Amino acid sequence: TDAVRLESLYKTYDGGVTALDGVTAGFAAGTFTAVMGPSGSGKSTLLQCAAGLDRPTAGRVFLDGTELTATGDTAMTKFRRLRAGFIFQDYNLLPSLTVEQNVVLPLRLAGRRADRAGSRAVLEQLGLGDRMRDLPERLSGGQRQRVAVARALVTAPAVVFADEPTGALDLRSAGEVLTLLREVVHTHGRTVVMVTHDPVAAAYADSVLFLADGRLAGEMRAPTADAVAE
Ligand code: ADP
Ligand code: ADP
Repeated sequence: TDAVRLESLYKTYDGGVTALDGVTAGFAAGTFTAVMGPSGSGKSTLLQCAAGLDRPTAGRVFLDGTELTATGDTAMTKFRRLRAGFIFQDYNLLPSLTVEQNVVLPLRLAGRRADRAGSRAVLEQLGLGDRMRDLPERLSGGQRQRVAVARALVTAPAVVFADEPTGALDLRSAGEVLTLLREVVHTHGRTVVMVTHDPVAAAYADSVLFLADGRLAGEMRAPTADAVAE
């Protein structure tokens, strides 16, 4: 089954730019997909529409079995907060909150009890168990992005959406974060959809979807990260 399904998606912005020009694609549950394409090809727009952060002009979006495009704004926000996780290039951590407070924020936004034991367990798994009370400014970029991964997982979402998650990281930190995303998929059974322009990052994914001028321009299975390292 598809964790995310896009049917004939069109998106035209105010001002007349067509960012998506009829995209149909499925993202199977338990897979890691990279979305690639030149700057301006519609990658971020596709991610935003798939994740319920924006609405397409036409077409249908199904997320974890629910049609977002048939759902009102309030219900869509509620559903997204419970069923989707987000990772951004610039980490998007709140600077005045500790690492632990940042991680449990999605639970609080979703109206759920902050699960301190659960967030501690996730942070320990990510090698950040001793940084829980630190502010993000005390962490390296790679550590901050690992906190963002922990935050994206804390509601146990069906799908994690990542927009250029390694764009601000050095090679080593990027590799750590990508390995983590592979584990999110292959150990924990989540679905990850990642926008990237970096072929090395895309090689960590199971398959790559190419966009050009708002259209699907191709799809391929990526070589494995092991093959790239050889
Ligand atoms: P990519 O992520 O591949 O760089 P985007 O989805 O960001 O592509 O953008 C696709 C097209 O839509 C570009 O021409 C971009 O300028 C335009 N665009 C993106 N966001 C907006 C917006 N909020 N308002 C108007 N045009 C936009
Ligand atoms: P909203 O505030 O629009 O209702 P949520 O709080 O449900 O969005 O968003 C889920 C997560 O994604 C939060 O961690 C939030 O900080 C982050 N987020 C939402 N939209 C954006 C965006 N456009 N850019 C960066 N981060 C975002």
